[in-house]
Amino acid sequence: MNSPVRAFRAVGGTPRFMVSGRGPWLTDADGREYVDLICSWGPMILGHAHPDVTRAAQDALARGTSFGTPGEGEVALAEEIVARVEPVEQVRLVSSGTEATMSAIRLARGYTGRAKVIKFAGCYHGHVDALLAAAGSGVATFGLPDTPGVTGAQAGDTIVLPYNDLEAVREAFAANPGEIACVITEASPGNMGVVPPLPGFNQGLAGLCRDNGALYISDEVMTGFRVSRAGWYGLDGVRPDLMTFGKVMGGGFPAAAFGGRADVMAALAPAGPVYQAGTLSGNPVATAAGLAQLRLLDDAAYETVDAVSEQVRGLVGEALAGQGVPHRVQNAGSMFSVFFTEDAVTDYDRARSQQAYPFTAFFHSMLEQGVHLPPSAFESWFVSTAHDAAAVERIAEALPAAARAAARATPPDATA
Ligand code: PLP
Repeated sequence: MNSPVRAFRAVGGTPRFMVSGRGPWLTDADGREYVDLICSWGPMILGHAHPDVTRAAQDALARGTSFGTPGEGEVALAEEIVARVEPVEQVRLVSSGTEATMSAIRLARGYTGRAKVIKFAGCYHGHVDALLAAAGSGVATFGLPDTPGVTGAQAGDTIVLPYNDLEAVREAFAANPGEIACVITEASPGNMGVVPPLPGFNQGLAGLCRDNGALYISDEVMTGFRVSRAGWYGLDGVRPDLMTFGKVMGGGFPAAAFGGRADVMAALAPAGPVYQAGTLSGNPVATAAGLAQLRLLDDAAYETVDAVSEQVRGLVGEALAGQGVPHRVQNAGSMFSVFFTEDAVTDYDRARSQQAYPFTAFFHSMLEQGVHLPPSAFESWFVSTAHDAAAVERIAEALPAAARAAARATPPDATA
């Protein structure tokens, strides 16, 4: 297992090993087919093995796989990103979302000459040491390591605050005058389930950063080029100083990016003093696939994904309501997740207060019926332009039994 969520720890059972994908379908090693609602955790917005993306990658592959010099493909991909996302004046390509957020934080620290970083509980920015931090004893105190292997020093400059709580951010700035380099937030979080920012939250963050000389970093690794042509920025229009991207922009290959204000990006090596580099950054095969995917993502494509998402959300809600299962479907554009609680989920504590066991029963029933949901109640579900009537019909057919299973589910200790 090369990434923990794939291990099914949250739901139990045996993960399915996939051998191929086509459109909205995945085929496992035993030849069973599933409608895929993971879409590689976001990248596969056109479905699997899209012919144009495949061809672009194959053509690039035939020309050589890595040169270690500048190339045309990386410039073309950078230009496409800059053209789509207006606050991005300059962009640096990297190979993973983790690298993008790690580098953006280093740049923010180097540019401002400050050490501290604000992040929000429940927001995930990849496995950057400084961002694998948990809140200390009080709001605005130093963070603690959230995993063995992260040192107190690495987590100690990270301030972890409750999501959607502007007052906490205000307090943290007041308690640490002139010390906070940046606030990093998921543009619209998808890593505690889908928990969109409350109206005015992102705007408030941008204002507090501006007033306090800190940089506002919007992590669009998940939302970027997925929820609109310009990602979450395209929906809320709040202007970050720096942004991070990954997933969709790589077309299923390892490609990611960070970018933003030209004066800030000018601090990056080689133009400036802040070091950042990568042997495979701007890899020709990855950039060709990413560019081919982005070029297919026009307004019509986003309308299709949004419509599929709305349809599936409706079907899930109907099935669960039909069985009297307390639930709440929350979405950010086409990203959505199902919380097994009726209360609005606006932060990580509320997300964690949901009962997980109905999801486990629901998940396994769907899986048995050939629909592969993300194997955790705290993840976004993803659809693609390839989710056609046949795929939606498979989902619709599976839902009633899954909703019944969720309704019948009992807490694990009740059956022990
Ligand atoms: N930021 C966000 C918002 C993410 O959702 C993720 C991954 O899920 C990352 C960063 C890290 O990206 P990667 O897994 O490519 O390192």
